Amino acid sequence: MLPLHLSKRFVQRCFPPANRLLTSATTTTTGDRRSSSPNQPPPPPIQVLLTESAGRGVFATRSIEPGQLIHTAKPLVSHPSISSVDKVCYLCLKNTPKCSEFQVEKVVFCSEECREQAKGFYEVEKEADWSALIAYCRTRGLKYPFLAKRLACMVISGVTSAECLDILQPARLSAEMISQMEEELCLLRGAFEDSGMNDKQLTFLNIEWYAGVLARIRINAFRIELAANAYEDLLALAAASVESEASVGNAVYMLPSFYNHDCGKTLYSSGFYEVEKEADWSALIAYCRTRGLKYPFLAKRLACMVISGVTSAECLDILQPARLSVEMISQMEEELCLLRGAFEDSGMNDKQLTFLNIEWYAGVLARIRINAFRIELAAHSYEDLLALAAASVESEASVGNAVYMLPSFYNHDCDPNTHIVWVENVEARLKALREIEAGEELRICYIDASMDRDARQNLLSKGFGFECNCPRCMSND
Ligand SMILES: [Zn+2]
Ligand SMILES: [Zn+2]
Repeated sequence: MLPLHLSKRFVQRCFPPANRLLTSATTTTTGDRRSSSPNQPPPPPIQVLLTESAGRGVFATRSIEPGQLIHTAKPLVSHPSISSVDKVCYLCLKNTPKCSEFQVEKVVFCSEECREQAKGFYEVEKEADWSALIAYCRTRGLKYPFLAKRLACMVISGVTSAECLDILQPARLSAEMISQMEEELCLLRGAFEDSGMNDKQLTFLNIEWYAGVLARIRINAFRIELAANAYEDLLALAAASVESEASVGNAVYMLPSFYNHDCGKTLYSSGFYEVEKEADWSALIAYCRTRGLKYPFLAKRLACMVISGVTSAECLDILQPARLSVEMISQMEEELCLLRGAFEDSGMNDKQLTFLNIEWYAGVLARIRINAFRIELAAHSYEDLLALAAASVESEASVGNAVYMLPSFYNHDCDPNTHIVWVENVEARLKALREIEAGEELRICYIDASMDRDARQNLLSKGFGFECNCPRCMSND
């Protein structure tokens, strides 16, 4: 399966418990709008409203352009993954070298600002010995108890209230889940008690609180994948078409292992760009623009990579291809003609272009078709992308987990109009994937959108507890 790029969450199917908040829905959209001074940024063009079928939802208050940043969101609580704890900022999850001047014992901070903000609850956290909880979670592959631990430290230090997640929709918990939580709670409470906390400080820390927090984290936590951190994202970013409209591009994500045989400095070199810039792409661009096609640009980029020797012509063969109709193939012949023509006109010879026939092109397009994700170009220029790619050797996909308020109100769609990106830290950026009209509901995809209908339905039902009735699912796509 391809890596999950987007978020995991849940549709609020039931009436939310905190529906009183919704009578003044717009106040939940802006956080702080006490003053309307001209220096304040305008409120985001959204409001949280009740939907007919899915509880709360987020709606556009005016039209939104493709690629537009709709709003950002800071987490209510975040925690690095255990393997990233000495590599990313303890608070904002930004990639941070170990020798950071803000290193404190075992954790690192990216800046004085983060260290200062985390001071109160880090003081609480560092007093306790978490090794038993860590060992417990590691053997069971659990991540969410760390978010609960962080939240408990925040409550104890007084920076947040014990009820701060109550507004979020909880998952339904089974008796077995609750009994497992009792073990986790025991380890959590034990660590605090051993560090000298008294009963009064830990009053809130009972099974009702813990189970309530975990039930909310379970369906509202986002796995944070920094665009500039994940290896496969980098490759995808580098492979994404520079000509894509606005800041939204397309990319095919592949397994990192698949790149092992030829991942070297050459992969990040500008070799393929040299090939690409020699040719005149205006005919292909015009053709694609009038038809709204994006994938031929990925095929073009791939062809440049093959010609320059950084990848093989067969590199996508491991991906599952889509079934193509005769009409689709005949359209592809036109695209191929434009692609090959541009290379030929730039002086490439037949030998260099041997691979570039309709079988190759159709095979690539068939794979791109079901494996391409719309992605955000995190960097501002092609050079930035290459620099980012060259700077990273990390292959770990997820740097941590976080729970947000507003992003938790977004409902799911298998063909979403909005997505979430994390550029360099835990701050979530919600961006429009296409033009959105005033009044339209903004939806994100909780899962890997490239999966087929059955796989999506299965994952959404098991992981998030609902049956998806989005237009894409209804059309059996
Ligand atoms: Zn930080
Ligand atoms: Zn769907």
